[in-house]
Amino acid sequence: MKAVLLHQHGPADVLQVVTNHPVPEPGPGEVRLRVRAAALNYLDIWVRNGWPGIKLSYPHIPGADAAGTVDAVGEGVSDWRPGDRVVVDPTLSCGRCAYCRAGQENRCVHFALLGEHVSGTYAEYITVPARNLLGLPDHVSFEEAAAASLVFVTAWHSLITRGNLRPGETVLIVGAGGGVNTACLQIAKLTGCTVYVVGSTDEKLEQARALGADVVIRRDVEGGWSRAVYQLTAKRGVDVVVDNVGAATFQDSLRAAARGGRILTVGNTSGAQFEIDNRYVFGKHLSILGSTMGPHTDYVTVMQLLFKGRLKAVIGARYPLEEVQQAHRALEAGQHFGKIVLSV
Ligand code: ZN
Repeated sequence: MKAVLLHQHGPADVLQVVTNHPVPEPGPGEVRLRVRAAALNYLDIWVRNGWPGIKLSYPHIPGADAAGTVDAVGEGVSDWRPGDRVVVDPTLSCGRCAYCRAGQENRCVHFALLGEHVSGTYAEYITVPARNLLGLPDHVSFEEAAAASLVFVTAWHSLITRGNLRPGETVLIVGAGGGVNTACLQIAKLTGCTVYVVGSTDEKLEQARALGADVVIRRDVEGGWSRAVYQLTAKRGVDVVVDNVGAATFQDSLRAAARGGRILTVGNTSGAQFEIDNRYVFGKHLSILGSTMGPHTDYVTVMQLLFKGRLKAVIGARYPLEEVQQAHRALEAGQHFGKIVLSV
């Protein structure tokens, strides 16, 4: 079968497209999927580049997001039949630990993510646990479902489950174009919040406005964007700051938060290690709330909102699987607004 393989870490050039990779066999409780669309996440770049302590078993197939049709089912699987259209919840969990039993699969002691801890979705066929599948209505395309999967469950869990977002609150989203941030923007609007977005270019801010942003601010605004937020909110600050940028922005995010504000984070595109001024945290009674991915109940909730058209996947570019290197370079260059999708 066709697949994208990693044999070593490195730049986009290390991604190899092969046509003779063995088709995987579904084990007990698993389903084999004919992947029709996969989507890129920033995580894929990190996995490709590697980090101290990462352990991949080579050849590794990257990718967390996939949608397609059921191709074969393993022993004990009765809920799915070949031909069913499905999308995959990328969080893998043991189903037995205390967290899993409490419905917190994303805190599982054996937590794993497709494409990071195990082989991923950049392939014609993949095997996944049957419980990770969600049926896809005919009117939702494979591309849209794959593009939505990881980012929408991550955004929903962060804003709604962890952040307890309420109607009428003010939300600042730091960064305009990324998949999680475009999902956060839509979820905050759907909740009934006033949304501020900080972005690097007028073009990205215009697109954020089209998605419902109430106030847009250039990252390079004179005097700094956190000061701009402070002034635009009559020196109050915002109730919730979504900061998935990290090193380059976190200090400003603390400044932009109102007293009693919450800072939500699910990642860091600019670096993980940085200093924070502790005085902002205690002086303004701030809460910093982290999370990764989301439990399956959140996945089902947010994907159903997508199926109903209340939320939409923003697709910035499509590439055939064979052009995976170009797709990775485009993601690294940050030139697209929304998700980059691979057609398989
Ligand atoms: Zn578990």
